[in-house]
Order: sequence, then structure tokens, then C-alpha cells
Amino acid sequence: MRIFQAKAAKLNLGDSWRLPWRLEFDDSIVPTKPSFGWEEYKKGAFARFSCSKCRRCWSTSRAMVVFHMRLLGRQGTVKVRHLRQNCKECSDAPMEEARFSPADINVLLDHLMEKIGVEFYDAMPAKKEHFKRKLDGRPHEESHCEACKQGVCRGWAYDSLR
Ligand SMILES: [Zn+2]
Ligand SMILES: [Zn+2]
Repeated sequence: MRIFQAKAAKLNLGDSWRLPWRLEFDDSIVPTKPSFGWEEYKKGAFARFSCSKCRRCWSTSRAMVVFHMRLLGRQGTVKVRHLRQNCKECSDAPMEEARFSPADINVLLDHLMEKIGVEFYDAMPAKKEHFKRKLDGRPHEESHCEACKQGVCRGWAYDSLR
């Protein structure tokens, strides 16, 4: 929330008035199905998970984060949802929340801000980065990934950093 506010404040440099952007966590938003008037940005991010049953930990570069955003009047709203994963070792393992490091949140929100700039402020998209993000080299556990179960994980997963 703090990183978001700091970055959102910079969106309005050069404007005499400042447009507030608000971030809300909302697990009811559906990937690929933003409500009318909302734009979507979704991205696989690096995150760690741990199993609340067996304490096993795993990390992935494919923890999906979905943002839906809207600019209405002078209020910008971003809703965010991160999709969960569950342990592949336990039976009936509960879906676990992703944990993101501040550095990874920072990268993720930079991309979000660029997307907001393009969608709502007519900014030019930044040049695409010329490197591919190295995947972690392990097979993705599709049956334990909430995004896969919703059919929205494939396709974007081997995307480059943006
Ligand atoms: Zn487990
Ligand atoms: Zn997946």
C-alpha cells in the first residue's frame, strides 16, 4: 500500500491538481473479466508460499497478480487480487496466500504504473526490455495453481518481463 501510494503520487507530476489513486484488495475480481469501464493488467510475479499443513515452502515466478483499474471523475481506483497456490505434497492442502518481497512488489507496481500511464494519461509505453526473465527452470504445478484452474495462467506465463 505504501509503495503504491508513493508511485501513484508521481503519476500526477506536472498537473496543478493531484488525482488520488486508491488501492483496494478485492478477491472478487475475476481475471480476464473486468467489469464494464475497468481496465485489466495481470502479471506473473515472483512470490513465496508456505503450506499451513506441512510447513513446506516453495517459490515461483508465476504467482499471478491481477489488477483492475478505473478512473472515474477525479478518483482512480485499482483493485488487486493475487491468486493462490496450494501444496503438492499434502492431500486436501488449503490454498495459500502468496508472500511478496518489497523488491518484487516494487517491480510489479512499476509495471502497473506504466500501464496506468498508458491507459489513462496517454503516456507512451516504455521500450520493451530486451531480456527475457529467466524462469526458475522447474515445471509449473498447474494443478496447484489457482490461476491455472481458472484457465488464465497459460499464455502469459512465458512472457518476458513485460
Ligand atoms: Zn503441505
Ligand atoms: Zn499456473
